[in-house]
Amino acid sequence: MKAFLDDNFLLNGETAQRLYHDYAAGLPIIDYHCHLPPDEIAGDINFKNLTHAWLYGDHYKWRAMRANGVNEQYITGKASDEEKFMQWAATVPYTLRNPLYHWTHLELRRYFGEHKLLSPPTAKEVYDECSAKLQSPEYSVRNLVTKMKVEVVCTTDDPLDDLAHHQKIKQDGYTVKVLPTFRPDKAMQVEDTLNLNAYIDKLEGISGVAIKDFETYLGALKARHDYFAANGCKLSDHGLEQIYAGDYTDTEVKAIFKKIRHNHSLMPLEITKFKSAMLFNFALWDHEKGWVQQYHLGALRNNNARALSTLGPDTGWDSIGDFSQARELSKFMNKLDTTNQLAKTIIYNLNPADNEMIAAMIGNFNDGSVAGKIQFGSAWWFLDQKDGMTRQLNALSNMGLLSRMVGMLTDSRSFLSFPRHEYFRRLLCNLFGEDIDNGELPADIEWTGKIIQDICYYNAKNYFDF
Ligand SMILES: [Zn+2]
Repeated sequence: MKAFLDDNFLLNGETAQRLYHDYAAGLPIIDYHCHLPPDEIAGDINFKNLTHAWLYGDHYKWRAMRANGVNEQYITGKASDEEKFMQWAATVPYTLRNPLYHWTHLELRRYFGEHKLLSPPTAKEVYDECSAKLQSPEYSVRNLVTKMKVEVVCTTDDPLDDLAHHQKIKQDGYTVKVLPTFRPDKAMQVEDTLNLNAYIDKLEGISGVAIKDFETYLGALKARHDYFAANGCKLSDHGLEQIYAGDYTDTEVKAIFKKIRHNHSLMPLEITKFKSAMLFNFALWDHEKGWVQQYHLGALRNNNARALSTLGPDTGWDSIGDFSQARELSKFMNKLDTTNQLAKTIIYNLNPADNEMIAAMIGNFNDGSVAGKIQFGSAWWFLDQKDGMTRQLNALSNMGLLSRMVGMLTDSRSFLSFPRHEYFRRLLCNLFGEDIDNGELPADIEWTGKIIQDICYYNAKNYFDF
């Protein structure tokens, strides 16, 4: 029996172990998509305690606690930080086989050197020790990031953001590049015209562009796109149920925009046309600037109306959807490719049933201009676990070139999530190692090691222009 989470965790056999320890383990991290709060990095804050660092905003843990029967009072409610932690600690032993069990103990070990298993008998000690450390200068958020050998962090930001925090971080000479990502989801939220109009009014003030019609609306957003570029942005990101690639005319979209400004609700076809026009224009700008565009597809959000009304969005009530993806994706990329205006693109799917479809789809639009131009994004959210990652890596191996993948990202809101890169690297080395051991790949450790280093670090370094 192997010891839990030992040095060779997830590494079955000597070859996998060699590949990981000699090639993957020591590489720096490029975290090209995450949701770390830039204000906390700018302020270089210290967390008051482990609950702040771990349980504020982590909807993975919240879902597990709810599934374990914990009252909401101890999750997002008014209970004290210590009470909340105790409820989490009581939940952890029930998370066996959920990735949370691995993440929790990896994080305790890698950041705090804490080797105890978290459970009610150890909870108080773990809480006190880790909380004390978190209050020390060595555990400020900037130091938490550098501790994990992170080189680049790309946050996720609304076009209206003034990016003052990113500027401050740069001025301070922080060794980690913290760059913004242009995520204009709110600018497309036509289902709620009241909110969208408030957003458009704000955009008008911030951009200094008078928004009279659809053209000037795009102009104002383009000004923000330019502003993001001037502040080091190299990526866009879109969180969508599916890609919108409907046909539309300029006249139609102009009329739809007018309807929005008059607070008239839209018909489903109008929504599709409008979103299609927006996405297409965003993609043109991304290409113009040489950015990488990312599409996170397939989440079915806010499933629980009662929870949405009391707790708001992004509190752990989202799920995997089963939207149809292939035809629209094909149409969208084809339209851009026709005029050679398709930017480097990463597509992430949330429904594992789409793995093979996405892996096959990306091969239609690689044009030889850059290795791995169209990427099948790393397993994400509900799929960010051993099985989901393995399936994504296998689908990509079978239909495309795993060797050209730009690798892992945390997609996390937590400063303690960077060991997920380690998790990915171990799984990756294990896949190659087992194939070598089985005689399915040649025992060329040097070449395989190079491929692994590319996937873990160098491909991202070359693909993104940071
Ligand atoms: Zn994300």
